[in-house]
Amino acid sequence: MEKSDKKIEKENKCSWTAHIAIRYEVFREPPVEHPPFWADLVIGFRAMTDQELSGFPGHTFGWFFTTLQCESSFYLPWLMKKLQSANVELKKTHVENIWHLHGQYDVVVNCTGLGSHALFGDNEVYPVRGQVIMVRAPWLKHFVRAGDGHTYIYPGVRDVTLGGTRQSHWGMLLPIAEDSLGIWERCCALVPSLKRSRRLAERVGLRPSRASIRLERECLACGALRMTVVHCYGHGGVGVTLHWGCAREVAALVCDSLRGHVASAKL
Ligand SMILES: Cc1cc2nc3c(=O)[nH]c(=O)nc-3n(C[C@H](O)[C@H](O)[C@H](O)COP(=O)(O)OP(=O)(O)OC[C@H]3O[C@@H](n4cnc5c(N)ncnc54)[C@H](O)[C@@H]3O)c2cc1C
Repeated sequence: MEKSDKKIEKENKCSWTAHIAIRYEVFREPPVEHPPFWADLVIGFRAMTDQELSGFPGHTFGWFFTTLQCESSFYLPWLMKKLQSANVELKKTHVENIWHLHGQYDVVVNCTGLGSHALFGDNEVYPVRGQVIMVRAPWLKHFVRAGDGHTYIYPGVRDVTLGGTRQSHWGMLLPIAEDSLGIWERCCALVPSLKRSRRLAERVGLRPSRASIRLERECLACGALRMTVVHCYGHGGVGVTLHWGCAREVAALVCDSLRGHVASAKL
């Protein structure tokens, strides 16, 4: 590991779970939705100037804005530490059948994503495969995304993520050389300096997709047995973006269910 990497790693351990991201979104043709519905949620949203667009050949239109970028590889361990320091008891296990949890908890929160197909018989949830390439290119500071969302360059705290693919109903977790080649060519066409970057790894993930997110309470019944489940899954490619708002809604449903338990116990 290079010396500067060690220094960055140390800083990451302190607090870098999210950082400010300056972002360009470029289009070959002006998009239909103009401005997009989220324009007021980001900082300094504006159309790109002709000078800025000249850096992206073949693209005639673009947005420029500043927003927050959350880096899950740092953020999730940070959240885990928060739970541990709040003395939350953590257990890791594969749940074969939801009824195996019966009697152990007042409320079960289901965040199993694609696992909800096997666990709850939800046929609406399906994988959208995403492959990316990780590269080292420390000179890149701006996020670039091409309008269709299939091509993106996301500089992170240390490495740069080049994407991507969106392959519906496909759960293949191994990287595919053809996909990597396509990603590489598209990203280098967008930002040619990437050709000088050092390739680190290929990664594949599955977006747990659904026509709409399932965020609701369900009272399950099996004979005389009852179980309260709060579902929260099906976020597709925007689970990180939406996680805090969804978690707040889940917490409200859990609190409401617990109040119900206490009230019925008093009767
Ligand atoms: C390439 C790629 C790029 C992405 N980019 C973005 C982005 O820029 N912005 C954004 O907001 N989102 C992005 N996403 C999407 C985001 O990663 C997902 O929306 C998010 O991870 C969904 O989180 P989740 O916890 O609901 O599901 P998951 O992350 O799928 O987690 C579900 C968990 O449940 C566990 N599980 C399943 N079944 C069982 C069982 N029976 N028993 C016990 N455990 C079980 C699984 O092991 C897993 O740990 C991207 C995804 C990919 C693949």
